[in-house]
Amino acid sequence: MAASAGGSPVIYRCRLCQYRSDKVTVVRHHVMAHLLYHPYRCPFCDLARSVKSSPINKHVRLRHPGQEPTFICERNEQLERSVYEHDVAEKSRPVLR
Ligand SMILES: [Zn+2]
Ligand SMILES: [Zn+2]
Repeated sequence: MAASAGGSPVIYRCRLCQYRSDKVTVVRHHVMAHLLYHPYRCPFCDLARSVKSSPINKHVRLRHPGQEPTFICERNEQLERSVYEHDVAEKSRPVLR
């Protein structure tokens, strides 16, 4: 645990805008939205796309009653790797009062 001296939280930042969060997955989903990367799709229509599977399951339950809640996943590993390189981690500065 030598790397974390001081204990100030790490903030992850989007390179494309001012967006920042202390959760790296939130920033990655945000960057994927910039790139219009929506690997999860509805198998029954063309309307629902998402970076996560849960909104698709919800969509199928609402829009396609009687169908199994399911989704199509077309992940692009190369693009995901570039997204992982995209987020910038920085230590937030301690607030001086
Ligand atoms: Zn952004
Ligand atoms: Zn649908």
